[in-house]
Amino acid sequence: MRAIVSKGILACVVAALSLPGWSEPGLDVAVLAEAPAAPPPSAAAKHEVVSVRMPGAAFAAMQTINPEHIRWHVRYLSHDLLEGRGTGQRGGDIAAEYIATQFAEYGLKPVGDNGSYLQRVPLVGITTLPETKISLVPKQGEAMVLKPLDEYVAYDRTQQEHTELDADIIYVGYGIEAPEYNWDDYKGVDVRGKVLLMLVNEPPSDDPKFFKGKALTYYGRWTYKFEEATRKGASEVILIHREDMASYPWQVVRNSFSGEQSSLKLEGPALQVASWVQLDVAKKLATTAGMDLEKMMADARTREFHPVNLGVKLEAHMVSKVRNFESNNVLAMLPGSDRKLKDEAVIYTAHYDHFGIRPDMPAGNNIFHGAADNATGCGILLELARAFSVAKERPARSMIFAAVTAEEQGLLGSEYLGKHPPVPASKIALDLNYDDVKPLGSPEEVEVTGAERTTFYPWVQATAKEFRLAIRPDARPEAGHFYRSDHFSLARVGIPSFSINEGMKFKGHDEAWGIAQDQEFVEKHYHQPSDEYHPEMDFVGDAAMARFGFALGWEAASLTRLIGWQKGDEFEAARVKSQ
Ligand SMILES: [Zn+2]
Repeated sequence: MRAIVSKGILACVVAALSLPGWSEPGLDVAVLAEAPAAPPPSAAAKHEVVSVRMPGAAFAAMQTINPEHIRWHVRYLSHDLLEGRGTGQRGGDIAAEYIATQFAEYGLKPVGDNGSYLQRVPLVGITTLPETKISLVPKQGEAMVLKPLDEYVAYDRTQQEHTELDADIIYVGYGIEAPEYNWDDYKGVDVRGKVLLMLVNEPPSDDPKFFKGKALTYYGRWTYKFEEATRKGASEVILIHREDMASYPWQVVRNSFSGEQSSLKLEGPALQVASWVQLDVAKKLATTAGMDLEKMMADARTREFHPVNLGVKLEAHMVSKVRNFESNNVLAMLPGSDRKLKDEAVIYTAHYDHFGIRPDMPAGNNIFHGAADNATGCGILLELARAFSVAKERPARSMIFAAVTAEEQGLLGSEYLGKHPPVPASKIALDLNYDDVKPLGSPEEVEVTGAERTTFYPWVQATAKEFRLAIRPDARPEAGHFYRSDHFSLARVGIPSFSINEGMKFKGHDEAWGIAQDQEFVEKHYHQPSDEYHPEMDFVGDAAMARFGFALGWEAASLTRLIGWQKGDEFEAARVKSQ
């Protein structure tokens, strides 16, 4: 696939040259303006040939995107006074109000609740209390009482203060039903009311046609396993944690699931107990059942696998603290210009929440500022909203700008948005998400992981070429990053979605420099109070990512046909179902 620079865009480039402000030093606009026409398609090219088309008015609006505007938003949103923008906390609410006020200033239409910019997101925090008791009860012999945190973590997803459970344990292998890979661990066995013991991850494979080879698919994520078990009416899931299969140590499970767990207020059925056990507990359980865990794991790797009733019961006495709280998504719209297409939309998302203040840490250094994560994304979102609002022409489809909450609590604000979008999910052409776009200077690469799964990819490639940005492939597809940012919440309801971010290669530096910057951030500042704003930060790259996203959004809003997922993609079924 290749980009053709249409006459249209060349004309725009010329028009842009006369615009004031376009030539600010270091801006990548110049790069765009210099972009030569692509070579003609080779005879061998059989793919769809697309052209990047943007009217002059759109181009002019895009050129107003200014790194300093993004800086000001980041400076404010990551200020001490915003108290780390905690979900359901004062600082988070102030951030939401700030964003809403900007949307109002830009003259955008409020599309939250009751004609406001705010969409209320009802949340529940669950803490498993020490009175909780979980035991394994074999047919003969003594019950085994499990030690909390050392041997298991568990929480009650029904959001009740008390739950009692006494049920058979059924081993279901990986707990996956994936018709597109001809894989079914359940084999139609009735598991209603049962406790399901299962493995983390998915059947290992090097074949890209089988669970995408080494890449992690959604079937390998624990969230999928809980959802599938819930759909089948099970009462509990026990995930067997094996470090190499989970790709993180028990300590991570223990830390992540020992404190308060937030989720959306329940809108349907849920598991009574969601739990993880240490490998040793699973071994003991297998032995008690007269089985061998290694063999059970090997059996699970075949299509012939069939669920096994272990003949051991699980007794759970769950006691939880339940805290109801709420936060808001902030939603605005620029209505489209086409009489018909304006009922459809393109959406931009960025989460505004971070971790707030940690009272258990020493005062003075306990505010989680979240400058990179994700005041940068909010700054880009706001600058995009502003740029679209000043365009002398509007795109055919409507544009929605959504600053979402509770991302750090597990993508909850975007989950709510996906379930309650201001325009039906089936009519949303595309979601472009921004999360943690570091102010490191002028990027020469862009990451758009997941874009290749959509029918929009030829345009993404062509646009990247126009911007002289090389598309950087996902270095570790097995880590499943696609499932860990807000765009995923929208993909789940079928909306073609991906995040836009810089790669590792920046102007004036080699790739190793970019990788080193990234590693240093992860080690020293990621999810730490020290992720804060510094005046010497360079927001040119954030502006470049905003312009790139502006062009993509405009394209997506103008195409005659709605964007979809590639044939056979794991989200294709959700898209079809929504339409
Ligand atoms: Zn984060």
